[in-house]
Amino acid sequence: MIYMDHAATTQMTPAVIQAMLLCMEDVWYNPSSLYMPAQRAAEMLRNARSHIAACINASPEEIIFTSGGSEADNQAILSAAQAGSKAGKRHIVSTAIEHHAVLHTLEKLEQEGYAVELLDVHSNGIVSAAQVERAIRKDTCLVTVMYANNEIGSIQPISEIGAVCREKGVIFHTDAVQAAGHLPIDVKAQNIDFLSLSAHKFHGPKGIGVLYARSGIPVTSVIKGGDQERGQRAGTENVPAVVGMAAALEESCSHMAEDTRKLTILRDQLIAGLSQIPHSVLNGDLKNRLPGNVNFSFEGVEGESLVLLLDQRGICASTGSACTSQSLSPSHVLLAIGRSDEMAASALRLSLDMDNTQADVDEVLRTVPELVKELRGKRTVKVWGNK
Ligand SMILES: *Cc1c(COP(=O)(O)O)cnc(C)c1O
Repeated sequence: MIYMDHAATTQMTPAVIQAMLLCMEDVWYNPSSLYMPAQRAAEMLRNARSHIAACINASPEEIIFTSGGSEADNQAILSAAQAGSKAGKRHIVSTAIEHHAVLHTLEKLEQEGYAVELLDVHSNGIVSAAQVERAIRKDTCLVTVMYANNEIGSIQPISEIGAVCREKGVIFHTDAVQAAGHLPIDVKAQNIDFLSLSAHKFHGPKGIGVLYARSGIPVTSVIKGGDQERGQRAGTENVPAVVGMAAALEESCSHMAEDTRKLTILRDQLIAGLSQIPHSVLNGDLKNRLPGNVNFSFEGVEGESLVLLLDQRGICASTGSACTSQSLSPSHVLLAIGRSDEMAASALRLSLDMDNTQADVDEVLRTVPELVKELRGKRTVKVWGNK
């Protein structure tokens, strides 16, 4: 089996599973309890918190554990919106290609009377800091721009956007779920106020994530209850998951440069090989993209059919984001970079990680052209326009 859907989720590494097992077997106590065994759980939580903070150049008090990337995105946006509202600022700047955890939260705020401005991205899926700067108004309370896109891998100029926001005094949130473990994150140098992470995208467990909130930035709790996470997120902490997440982040950040080198080579081989297929088009930027991301549209081919045929050949891939693959509407990301409905529905995303090999790439490069040809042969109507 060849797994090339790492943007959807990743497998936990043995070290992560081991760390979690130890924790589940021996330190299953409630970290808020007062007796000694529970204090060991509290200590594990503290250690994990400082390790995660160190990976992104934050302080431990700036780390809030959440149920994942979606919750972190929700909390960052709702916190900034609430603080903004108190100051009479109800304008929010974002982009058209954000994850639905961001876009649907913004839609809700729009219904509540906020003015939400979604910036267009260029045809390569990238927004410029100048666009963000032009969009910022006196009543802007939040800029939220993802670090790297989950479908087309495009990397945004986060440091420049951070600098613009800091200068203008506007809160800056970035969804760094796809970036973590692949791109350097330094919340101080990059002037980031809120940042979202999700463990299962970097070989940690599912259902756990981080909201980094810069100290001094007001945070609203979304989940109400006890005063865990300094009153910013209620609920008994999932200590094994947090421990697994810390192990996974440290592990992936420790060999990031080496991984990037290897993945970039494999990615570029896939891009070069799949470009040979007639009437194919690469989605996203050729160079400024995640080291493991490949996304192509093949004219006249239904992406979903291609994914199902690939599955029969033992290759796990995706049409785009796992969250939209259950729905029939074409990818909002591909539409935003100017693809037609038909081209958007003909996309194949291959997302690689360190468990992929040269042999995997060779196999995919043998299989995809064959299946594309097969699917096109089934169509009675000729659909090719200009490439
Ligand atoms: C996966 C993903 C999320 C959601 O994270 P969960 O932990 O699955 O809730 C948010 N944003 C991006 C960019 C993602 O890829």
